[in-house]
Amino acid sequence: MKIPFSKPYLTGKEAHYLYQAVLSGMISGNGMFTKRCHEFFEESYHFKKCLLTTSCTDALEMAAILIDIKPGDEVIMPSYTFVSTANAFVLRGAKIVFADSGPDNPNMDADQIESLITPKTKAIIPVHYAGIACNMDKIMELARKHSLYVIEDAAQAIDSFYTDRPLGSIGHLSAFSFHETKNVISGEGGMLVINDEQFIRRAEIVWEKGTNRAEFFRGEVNKYGWMDIGSSFLPSDIIAAFLYAQLEHLDEIQKKRKMLWNAYYENLKPLETAGHISLPRIPDYATNNAHMFYVLFKNLEARTSVIEHLKKNEIYAVFHYLSLHKSPFYEKKHDGRILSNSDHYTDCLLRLPMYYELTVDQIGFIAKEIKDCLQ
Ligand SMILES: *Cc1c(COP(=O)(O)O)cnc(C)c1O
Repeated sequence: MKIPFSKPYLTGKEAHYLYQAVLSGMISGNGMFTKRCHEFFEESYHFKKCLLTTSCTDALEMAAILIDIKPGDEVIMPSYTFVSTANAFVLRGAKIVFADSGPDNPNMDADQIESLITPKTKAIIPVHYAGIACNMDKIMELARKHSLYVIEDAAQAIDSFYTDRPLGSIGHLSAFSFHETKNVISGEGGMLVINDEQFIRRAEIVWEKGTNRAEFFRGEVNKYGWMDIGSSFLPSDIIAAFLYAQLEHLDEIQKKRKMLWNAYYENLKPLETAGHISLPRIPDYATNNAHMFYVLFKNLEARTSVIEHLKKNEIYAVFHYLSLHKSPFYEKKHDGRILSNSDHYTDCLLRLPMYYELTVDQIGFIAKEIKDCLQ
């Protein structure tokens, strides 16, 4: 019984919609399926304006352009995150000021952010790790007080909420991912959400290589031209067709993943009670979208031995981010602050297999093998 870490789930309609897109003869960007995906998100989550992108990385790069990041600007974000969160801003010359994670989960510790704000600070980038919300009231309040932008890295946070507000609808801008490892997928793919109206017109222009082609398509202008900087951020309608087939099954996907997440929790609870591991803690203000199931071990040695033991049993579990403040690229640029919680998650966090077709029996088997290894 081989259990991979992740496996893309196909809902059944993907090939049909791809075929429809091809038959339509309109397979460049901003076509019929792209519009359907935008409408789905704008209606389901009250996002003000959505633009599909070729990745979440691209959506973050668009966000950095839209808030006019310039050399010397400072941007605050967690160190425990994916490279793209930081790279999007570094590409435009920003200095990254890394915040430590909190003690309860890998999200940035909102209580520490204010001490990192300087006159050069331009934005805060909360990353909703494992789809669990950051403390958005605190972050938005700080942003208002210091006139900063908030860009949510909601790559993992589809269909998750802060109190009753969908993640991705709170920051000025937000970025989602549909990479094949996420809950809802298109192979590669992403989306920029624009909640602050001042950015809507320019976002469309940046999206379309710096031109006002989107306005031209809608018949609002009779020719289009070069208006601003931009790039080719929009995906082919073929990608959108694939994504739309997934979105039609979003509720079913989420339901199944949450059931699996709960099965892990129940199976591993005794190991937590016995003091061997810690399980994810979800703050009262956050929902769980079951993007990921992770376990925290006491130290690197315990985690390494569990990874090895699981591998011998053909179960593939993987650790996650290496803190960016210690990365070969940024170590020398970092200001030297010690980020001990971030380091703790780098060493002790392990992600267990999580995908639609996983079964409760397999989860029982995985939990048993972890237990055998630790006891
Ligand atoms: C997956 C992920 C990204 C990158 O998404 P892509 O669509 O692959 O560019 C960025 N940030 C976080 C937190 C992620 O999990």
